[in-house]
Amino acid sequence: MRMSRSTLSGAAATRRSLVKALTLSAAAAALVPCRRALAAELPQLDVKDPAATKLGYVEDAGRVDPKKFPGYVKGSTCENCLLLQGTSGNRYRPCSLFPGKAVSVGGWCSGWTAEM
Ligand code: SF4
Repeated sequence: MRMSRSTLSGAAATRRSLVKALTLSAAAAALVPCRRALAAELPQLDVKDPAATKLGYVEDAGRVDPKKFPGYVKGSTCENCLLLQGTSGNRYRPCSLFPGKAVSVGGWCSGWTAEM
């Protein structure tokens, strides 16, 4: 069977696309464990950190003073906050309000936002 020039160039383009797709997939797969490792290695947010005190962050939501934070909703914790990131099951996870730090999933701050 003879292949025309356009068929050959089409096959080469398909092969290039396949190699490109496989390379991108491998690169993406290699990054996933790195992101998980980074989240696990974040330092824990100190309750005395100025950013934490400003928002009333506590490691145990049971310690929230409702008089000081009247917006506190009973039962709200970092774990059910929209801003919590990272992998479910970890005791400390990243929070988009405190970049570079991990917060206690049982904690709370006045930035708490209900999950949708
Ligand atoms: S914004 Fe949400 S997840 Fe972050 S510390 Fe406050 S309550 Fe916790």
